Amino acid sequence: MGRFSTPLILVAGGGGFIGGHWIDHLRRRGAHIRAVDHKPLDQWHQRFDDVENQVLDLQHLAVCQEAVAECGAVYNLAADMGGMGFIENNRALCMLSVLINTHLLMAARDAGARDYFYASSACVYAAGKQLDVHNPGLKEADAYPAEPEDGYGWEKLFSERMCRHFREDFGLQTRVARFHNVYGPHGSFDGGREKAPAAICRKVAAAKLFGPLEIVIWGDGEQTRSFTYIDDCVMGIDKIMASDVVDPINLGSDELVTINELVSMVESIAGVTLKRRYELDAPKGVRGRCSDNAMIQERLGWAPSIRLREGLAQTYAWIENEMRAGRASL
Ligand code: NAD
Repeated sequence: MGRFSTPLILVAGGGGFIGGHWIDHLRRRGAHIRAVDHKPLDQWHQRFDDVENQVLDLQHLAVCQEAVAECGAVYNLAADMGGMGFIENNRALCMLSVLINTHLLMAARDAGARDYFYASSACVYAAGKQLDVHNPGLKEADAYPAEPEDGYGWEKLFSERMCRHFREDFGLQTRVARFHNVYGPHGSFDGGREKAPAAICRKVAAAKLFGPLEIVIWGDGEQTRSFTYIDDCVMGIDKIMASDVVDPINLGSDELVTINELVSMVESIAGVTLKRRYELDAPKGVRGRCSDNAMIQERLGWAPSIRLREGLAQTYAWIENEMRAGRASL
């Protein structure tokens, strides 16, 4: 059990994609968990009966104090977020997530919690370092001089900094991971908050199940990314929390692909070939983004390794199944 013998663990954003998987991981270890999310319970991606589930809005200090009470560790996986289509059009909402992290940090400090995890993002990285599709990998130092994604990325960078100063000034053991495009089953795949892998799986499944055999791709499809399967993300959080790495660290795959290659992989998993239509005005984000994994390799002796095709096969199967069951708002 080790550090999981703390009385209670708070998972903020427990109804979300990564929160749900993280809770499942902790509960299998016998941890005592309080999951908090502001969405109604029937909208949580995963819900477990052996966990204390609470519907609360964590933007408020008093609510955070209630949520953190008696907790030895806090995992902040709560944010108002989504894929490029959401964050480019909802900058103020993204920045308001600063209230969640600020109030959770204050509540954790005041309640005497020991450990605190913050989910940051590759969106903190300077735009000028992501202009080329042949991205050599973003090193942790590339977040400065600051030129992050407008709105969402600024909030993440500020909140990272806040974690650092709560550690330095108040002794709260904060840890920060910069997630790079996490994907997998039990996440959003429609409705506007879904990210590229889930959106492409949904579009391919829709074309296969209902036709026509066409797909709309945002941009020219030559923009590059790396995508991290959820099991690697969960394992990484665990390893980072058990480590002495206190500064923000990349938690992402370094398997770089174009969006066109991502579409081809999903097509081959689904067993279809689609006519491609490119929407050049759609939100595209940066031109090239990849995780540099030198630091995680060196400090943890580990890095995400699940191949994209393997993770996509699991994700596609889950999404196609959800759509066959009519659980999509197409
Ligand atoms: P998600 O949207 O599935 O989960 C976030 C959850 O936070 C949602 O369930 C939402 O309802 C909840 N939430 C939002 N505002 C809240 C509030 N005021 N009070 C309580 N709950 C609130 O997203 P996710 O993919 O699980 O992301 C988890 C964390 O990881 C977020 O901080 C996100 O910014 C970060 N992140 C995710 C990715 C990714 O690729 N999924 C990449 C980089 C960073």
